[in-house]
Amino acid sequence: MQSIKAQDQELFVAMQSEKDRQEHHLELIASENFVSKAVLEAAGSVLTNKYAEGYPKKRYYGGCLHVDTVENLARERLKELFNVKYVNVQAHSGSTANMGAYRAMIKNGDTVLGMSLDHGGHLTHGHPLNFSGIDYKFHSYGVSDKDEMIDYDEVLRIAKDVKPQLIVAGASAYARSIDFKRFRAIADTVGAKLMVDMAHIAGLIAAGLHQNPCLYADIVTSTTHKTLRGPRGGIILTNDKDIYKEVNKTVFPGIQGGPLMHIIAAKAAAFKEALSPDFKVYQSQVIANAKALAEELKRLGFKVISGGTDNHLVLVEVKSLTGLTGKDAEKILEDVHITCNKNTVPNDPEKPFITSGIRLGTPALTTRGFDTGSMREVAKLIHDTLMNPDNDFVLNEVKNRVKTLTDQFPLYR
Ligand SMILES: *Cc1c(COP(=O)(O)O)cnc(C)c1O
Repeated sequence: MQSIKAQDQELFVAMQSEKDRQEHHLELIASENFVSKAVLEAAGSVLTNKYAEGYPKKRYYGGCLHVDTVENLARERLKELFNVKYVNVQAHSGSTANMGAYRAMIKNGDTVLGMSLDHGGHLTHGHPLNFSGIDYKFHSYGVSDKDEMIDYDEVLRIAKDVKPQLIVAGASAYARSIDFKRFRAIADTVGAKLMVDMAHIAGLIAAGLHQNPCLYADIVTSTTHKTLRGPRGGIILTNDKDIYKEVNKTVFPGIQGGPLMHIIAAKAAAFKEALSPDFKVYQSQVIANAKALAEELKRLGFKVISGGTDNHLVLVEVKSLTGLTGKDAEKILEDVHITCNKNTVPNDPEKPFITSGIRLGTPALTTRGFDTGSMREVAKLIHDTLMNPDNDFVLNEVKNRVKTLTDQFPLYR
């Protein structure tokens, strides 16, 4: 950041402080990760200067020879990664990818069945203030009261009742494997199309550690910056040529203008990393770490939603053990340099802005090298903090232990 430092102190200080925060705080936000230096270089490259509206070989601007190569690298690698025929790598974000996918699959006013937001679904799965909830008629399925997992018979019952044109599978706060094959059967029974939003678990799928939705869904969307560990962005995948053609139109010129070529280069860099054997080792560790975190939290007395995890995240009900709301827990943990987010738990009596739970994820800490032993230590730090929110001695002690842990696993140093 030499040039920023030389010409813009205000900006430099803010950016340097953020870098220090990432280095010295424990990052447990389940949707975040730390990209490689190669991905950072691509995202900070001169490709940001280039306009390239259109697609490789069919651009509306001259000088696209090299960015065509970059976009084709991203596309070919992505196809190999998920064993899929057609991909669009231009969506600026996961939300934009979902908008592109919906528009390619259904018309305004059509009925969609997705996961309820307070049981783990995403904003773009029908929140009333989101375009999805405004443009389409959303109905929802949740998790069962019995085991806090998706009850597929219940999904089928609701699908028969609401007769959706599209069913959406995928979530932002669901710790269990999702049976996409079962979703396909449900969609076929009611004559609906199936969309899978794999934003959170794309990295696990790429590593072969979760069922691949590309085998079953008509269309698959994802972010690239969560478990997949690439730059902030979106992708759309399909095995259907007609849907692919439609998607390319809905993304450009339907929603976006020029693609972010520097980000597409960073996606290409990340996909290459994801194709390497190391990535599989990393993703296995992400899951092992989440299981260790869940087990230790349970041992310490917390209620873990659905009793555990199959993936990279753990949803924890904090209120019954600690008396704290999710909102308060998030704040107190932040004060001791542990970063996570408040989250509703199934049938949460608190409002979405307050909540009774927190969502924890292991992708970011696993990237730094944390193993199951250090994750158990993290669970203890969370426990000590939330059980002693007014005890400065304990809170200071936790802060010191956080410092020791982050020094032990350096990030960009
Ligand atoms: C994160 C997420 C998105 C949206 O991603 P943005 O890049 O923040 O727009 C979409 N769907 C799901 C399930 C997600 O978890």
